[in-house]
Amino acid sequence: FSSVELTQAYLDRIESQDSKYNSYITVTPELALEQAAAADTARQSGNAGPMTGIPVAHKDIFCTQGVRTSAGSKMLDNFISPYDATVIQKFNAAGCVSLGKTNMDEFAMGSSNESSFYGAARNPWHTDHVPGGSSGGSAAAVAADLAPAATGTDTGGSIRQPSAFCNLTGLKPTYGRVSRFGMIAYASSLDQGGPMAKTAQDAAMMLNVMAGVDPMDSTSADHPVADYTANLEQPLSGLKIGLPKEFFSDSLNPEIAALIQGAVKEYEALGATVKEISLPNTALSVPAYYIIAPAEASSNLSRFDGVRYGHRCDEPKDLEDMYKRTRGEGFGTEVKRRIMVGTYALSEGFYDAYYKKAQQIRRLIQQDFVRALSEVDVIMGPTTPSPAFRLGEKTSDPVEMYMEDIFTLSLNLAGLPGMSIPCGFSNGLPVGLQIIGNYFAEEKLLNVAHKYQ
Ligand code: GLN
Repeated sequence: FSSVELTQAYLDRIESQDSKYNSYITVTPELALEQAAAADTARQSGNAGPMTGIPVAHKDIFCTQGVRTSAGSKMLDNFISPYDATVIQKFNAAGCVSLGKTNMDEFAMGSSNESSFYGAARNPWHTDHVPGGSSGGSAAAVAADLAPAATGTDTGGSIRQPSAFCNLTGLKPTYGRVSRFGMIAYASSLDQGGPMAKTAQDAAMMLNVMAGVDPMDSTSADHPVADYTANLEQPLSGLKIGLPKEFFSDSLNPEIAALIQGAVKEYEALGATVKEISLPNTALSVPAYYIIAPAEASSNLSRFDGVRYGHRCDEPKDLEDMYKRTRGEGFGTEVKRRIMVGTYALSEGFYDAYYKKAQQIRRLIQQDFVRALSEVDVIMGPTTPSPAFRLGEKTSDPVEMYMEDIFTLSLNLAGLPGMSIPCGFSNGLPVGLQIIGNYFAEEKLLNVAHKYQ
């Protein structure tokens, strides 16, 4: 069948099903069918690559030329991007079809998709439960077959946690592996784009499109890009797996612990050996992250001032009134909370006590991983402390929501790559196995993930 037929089938499904999941903020049928027709032409003339004509969905954090790019915020509800993010350019160059832009927590701040200006997305496995966040729309869209694969971004877990909640394979690459140009900034030293898909093979095909150095992003890594699909079948004999004792404490949900242990046993059957390791500063990762990320966010979000683009309040009296009302109206509660925390942490007199301390902890956390990864090839553990929770269950207590990220955000602090892959169900809800690798070990991670599936 043609790409036009495939694309039309997805568009029809989105139209008839997405009212249940709210996974898309914007669907772009005309653009999609135009791209699909061009892909079919390329195919007929023998100019097709492996991704030509494949529909994908993009998190609404990637700037898309001529299309609203909202970052899940009222602030950017009226923002039509004048340019494409590098990631979008790369999907276009690969001949992919863009179905539309997926729902997300406002400015990627959240773990449940409930902070979106467009309302929460829902978990297709159980629509009373959250799909996770912040890339919750991408996860829901792929899990509900409203896109074969999607892009996400991960600052503290936002690819891996929703992948775990929706039974997907999600990969957060090494910091700098994927360009951040045109990806609306949350916390620039932590943000990283990556794929969300149903299998490691699909994730590898997506990463082949996304990865690479970019002159437009000075923090992108000038490190050779592998063909991520080439070594998926490598045998795992001799693979050394580290299990951090801090990830398997008594407070871990016992069903999740059992599923993770079961997956590790299967890896042993595939020839891997297992060793207990320690990441002693794990407990400090949540407090350190929730200083560093809001600090960077408070600085990044200062650009939303009502002057150049995005929301502007009606009839401002003067400049200060415009700033105040524009930002007061445009940002939601969680974003305001982060801006206040971040501004406080960076303010003179508190900087040393909070921001500097958090950066010192960040270094310790990174050193823990470097030490551990000199002894083992990959680290395994749960992606999340519990399966998808109910909508509304954690909205009244931000700290409870932040604890959701305990196993994911230390990787962002260290800049390391990590995946979440499906490893079973607890009470009908999916559970994710997290696999962590060394810097630029995406190829190995995908190989390890693929052999389990
Ligand atoms: N839940 C974390 C936060 O709210 C991580 C979000 C993300 O990775 N974008 O900051």
